[in-house]
Amino acid sequence: MKGRLVLVPTPIGNLGDITLRALEVLRQAEVIACEDTRRTAKLLRHYGIHTPLVRLDQHTMNRAGKLFEEHRYIAYASDAGTPGISDPGAELVGLARERGFEVEVLPGPTALVPALVVSGFPSVRFVFEGFLPVGGRNRRRRLEALERESRTVVLYESPHHLRKTLTDLTAVYGPEHPLALVRELSKKHEEVWRGTLAAALAEFTEPRGEFVIVLGPRPAQSENGPDAARLYEELRAQGLSGRKLAEELERAGLSRNQAREWAYRKEEG
Ligand code: SAM
Repeated sequence: MKGRLVLVPTPIGNLGDITLRALEVLRQAEVIACEDTRRTAKLLRHYGIHTPLVRLDQHTMNRAGKLFEEHRYIAYASDAGTPGISDPGAELVGLARERGFEVEVLPGPTALVPALVVSGFPSVRFVFEGFLPVGGRNRRRRLEALERESRTVVLYESPHHLRKTLTDLTAVYGPEHPLALVRELSKKHEEVWRGTLAAALAEFTEPRGEFVIVLGPRPAQSENGPDAARLYEELRAQGLSGRKLAEELERAGLSRNQAREWAYRKEEG
């Protein structure tokens, strides 16, 4: 291996949300490449870290080659959260591999997981759509694909495009479809709003802050009932049993009675 690139997840709001390993890598790397030097510098100041910073965002990715030539231990931090999730981190991983660098990713903060979990929608299976393309044929295709999607769907969106995306999702799902808008996670004005697409459009007339959109599964799934046997097997494989298993089965769309029956009767048998 020619060198080592470590992708370091950074807080999505609250500076306290960083792991001890992340701090160790930021301290020990030769250089920290980052999407936004001001933002990363603030984090480094907070933790008294003095590693040099180099800007590396989607517009300056052509600098990556030089970085790989000059350094053997590079840390990468994107704007916030886990690099590679809807940010330039993914491209950097490819470039590092081409250069023969070993790539490591630390587990850590990301917006999609807490948003999905706090939404209360089934989280056993879900789809992460990231940002929809802003317009054109690609956006239409992605929206069309959602017409056939029966799982919980998680999307990222900027406040600027939120209303347009809610309007387009209304055309796909209908105005009464339930969703959660999870705003400003881990920040002072954190908010979890739940309601229908029509109510969201009425409520968020001038959206501000950072949003994750979580769309509930299509009603067809709850009407016909989810595949209880498959869910049961999946959750058992994850090590769930008893009350925890019943709770997860219920969250996935089974009635309380069904969930209990599966969780307890099957275990006894
Ligand atoms: N890499 C990041 C991650 O791991 O979540 C995502 C980067 S992407 C460029 C930024 C988007 O993530 C925002 O537009 C928003 O949809 C979501 N996001 C980031 N921080 C958030 C927060 N504190 N609250 C809600 N959504 C957030």
